[in-house]
Amino acid sequence: MSRVGRPAVFLDRDGTLNTRPPSHSYVSSPDEFAWLDGAAEGVALLARAGYAPAVVSNQRGIARGLVEERVLRQIEVRIQDELAARDCRIEAFRYCPHDLDDQCACRKPAPGLLLELARELDLDLGRSWVIGDSESDVLAGEAAGCKTVLLGAPPSSCRPDRVAGSLLEAARLITAERA
Ligand SMILES: [Mg+2]
Ligand SMILES: [Zn+2]
Repeated sequence: MSRVGRPAVFLDRDGTLNTRPPSHSYVSSPDEFAWLDGAAEGVALLARAGYAPAVVSNQRGIARGLVEERVLRQIEVRIQDELAARDCRIEAFRYCPHDLDDQCACRKPAPGLLLELARELDLDLGRSWVIGDSESDVLAGEAAGCKTVLLGAPPSSCRPDRVAGSLLEAARLITAERA
């Protein structure tokens, strides 16, 4: 008998929760993590609506020796502290630490991390959403059977289910749809 899992919202990190670092650079210290306006509020709205929040992030800076794992953990603490003030939390953080040519199954657009979380946390991918600011987020979500919201300009290169200007706007779209 198959159990009915919970819906999740898989959140990209850089450019979705926090300001995106310049291309080819990384958030390499906790001080460089800066929340985007409304992002924490958006997570709280989704959590209250019953979506399990998880963060799924490509962190190629690890493979390149430019980001330390310790810093990822410190940033997680910052994120959880901010969310605790809003009575919610990220249930899991998952990173792809690999480089482009490592051929791993976890670097988005591959859906590996989403599938792993679905098994671990008993999530229903078909009722889950991916929110991110890159085509790779949308493609990973599609590959995992989730619905997707792209943050930013309407794309030409991928087909998200929704487009929104911010995580808060995305959260409002998702929760309105469900109501
Ligand atoms: Mg991003
Ligand atoms: Zn990987």
